[in-house]
Amino acid sequence: MKIGVLAVQGDIREHAASVEKLGHNTVLVRDARYLDELDGLIMPGGESTTMTILMKRFGLWDKLKSLIEHGMPVYGTCAGLVLLSKRVTNYPDQPTLGVLDVEVERNAYGSQTESFEARLRIPILETEISAFFIRSPIVRSSSMKVEVLAKYGGTSVLVRQGNVLASTFHPELTDDLQVHQLFLESISLRRQGAKA
Ligand code: GLN
Repeated sequence: MKIGVLAVQGDIREHAASVEKLGHNTVLVRDARYLDELDGLIMPGGESTTMTILMKRFGLWDKLKSLIEHGMPVYGTCAGLVLLSKRVTNYPDQPTLGVLDVEVERNAYGSQTESFEARLRIPILETEISAFFIRSPIVRSSSMKVEVLAKYGGTSVLVRQGNVLASTFHPELTDDLQVHQLFLESISLRRQGAKA
């Protein structure tokens, strides 16, 4: 498969390396042309406000929103999840793509020094993974459309709504490829479903 990694800012290389270790090709997406013919897109962590400005400047914002609304599989981590969300509770004027029916609080665990690593149980994978939370958001509310795939400290940290997968943590900073694998497998399953 050909998986795009949004390459405007953030931990782009780490996501590309995870996808490549799983045997798929990656495309670093810098402007709207790169969005064509992708099987899926990863939106890395970074600084969501900076990413928004750059995505708009490079003509990515509207096209990406429309592609996701039409079913393009996307996986957003941390700032990526903020961009996908419906609303940012502590920055209500911050623009978001609004394709994931959750409300998030940015930087909700505190500053960089409050970043931490945690073990997470992922029931659908019947496994535990190690995850880094780096100035992560907290999902403060989500609608019935959103499936909760993992929780930490009582809040949702891995969620899915149809073609949109998102985590408040960074799996790309560990050697554990299981969340990337979940994303890639869900693309294959959706394709098989579309053919059937
Ligand atoms: N604090 C960042 C934001 O809200 C997200 C941090 C991250 O992606 N690691 O944009």
